[in-house]
Amino acid sequence: MTLAALRPRAAEWIDGRAIAARLDAATAAEVAAIVAREGVAPGLAVVLVGEDPASQVYVRRKIEACARVGIASSEHRLPDDTPQDALLTLIARLNADPRVHGILVQVPLPAHIDAGIVLGAIDPGKDVDGFHPVNVGRLSTGTGGLVPCTPLGVMMLLDSVLPDLRGLDAVVIGKSNIVGKPIAMLLLEREATVTVTHIETRGLADIVRKADVVIAAAGAPRLVRGFWIKEGAVVIDVGITRMVQEDGRTRLVGDVAFDEVQHARAVTPVPGGVGPMTIACLLANTVKAANQKK
Ligand code: NAD
Repeated sequence: MTLAALRPRAAEWIDGRAIAARLDAATAAEVAAIVAREGVAPGLAVVLVGEDPASQVYVRRKIEACARVGIASSEHRLPDDTPQDALLTLIARLNADPRVHGILVQVPLPAHIDAGIVLGAIDPGKDVDGFHPVNVGRLSTGTGGLVPCTPLGVMMLLDSVLPDLRGLDAVVIGKSNIVGKPIAMLLLEREATVTVTHIETRGLADIVRKADVVIAAAGAPRLVRGFWIKEGAVVIDVGITRMVQEDGRTRLVGDVAFDEVQHARAVTPVPGGVGPMTIACLLANTVKAANQKK
C-alpha cells in the first residue's frame, strides 16, 4: 500500500517537505542579505570521522543542502583511527576560523573517541547542532542559544497547526538528550503541561490518551496506536525505523500507526514529516550563528 493510500481522511497531514522548503527559502534570503552586507557567505564545517555508510549519506545531504541556500560548506573527513587529540586540534582550528560560523561533528563517533569531550570542545556560538552543555543550559533556562535541529523542526511543524500551546497537555515519548528532552524543554517554554515518558513508563497508552499534543520519539515502529490518541489531538511522529518489506525493499516506518489516527486534528507522515525539517533547521541555525557572531 502506498503512503497516499494510508493518508488519513479527516486528520490534516502536516507536510514537512513544504514547510522545510519555505524555511529554506527564508534561509536563502538571509544568506543573500549577509553576503550583500558583509561580502562573505555564512560557513558550515562538517566533520566526519570514519566510514559509517549512514553518516556518509547524512553528511552528503547536509553539504548539498548548504549549496542550495548559498551557505559555504567545508567537509573534513578523518580516518576511523583518528586520535581524539587530532580531532580536538581540528575543532580548535575551526573555532578560530572567522569563515566558519557553524561546526557540526557527525555522530556517532568511533568508540575510542569521547563524544562528550569532542562536542563540548565546539565553540557554543558555532554549535549548530545545539548539543554543547552551554546551549543545553540555555535551552533549559529559556535564555536563547542554538536549539537542536530536530526539536526545532518539531516545534515549527506544531506551530503550523497549533500556534498557541498554553495550558495544553503534551506528552513526549522518548527522553534522549538530542530529541525527547529538548522537545520537552521547548514545550515547557511555550507553557504546555508536559509529561515526558520513556521505555520504563507505566500505563503509556492512558497517559497519551489524555494529551492534546503527542510527540513520538521512541524509535519503536507503530508503538502509538489509534485508540491511544484523543479526538482532535495533534500528533508529531519523530520516529524513523528502516524496515525490510516482504519484497526485499526497505521502507521508513514511524512510531505512530499513521493509518489509525483519522480522528486526530493533524499528524505528520513518515517519511515527509519531521525528517525534512532537520536539515532545514541546521541551515537556519548556521545563519543564526553567523548573525550572532562576536
Ligand atoms: P534514543 O534511542 O536515543 O531514545 C529513544 C527514547 O525512546 C528513549 O528515551 C527510550 O526510553 C524511549 N523508548 C524506546 N522505546 C520505547 C517504548 N516502547 N515505549 C516508550 N518509550 C520508549 O533515540 P533518539 O535519538 O531520541 O531518536 C528517537 C527516534 O527519532 C528514532 O527513531 C530516530 O531515528 C528518530 N530521529 C529522527 C530524526 C529526524 O530527523 N526525523 C532525528 C533524530 C532522531
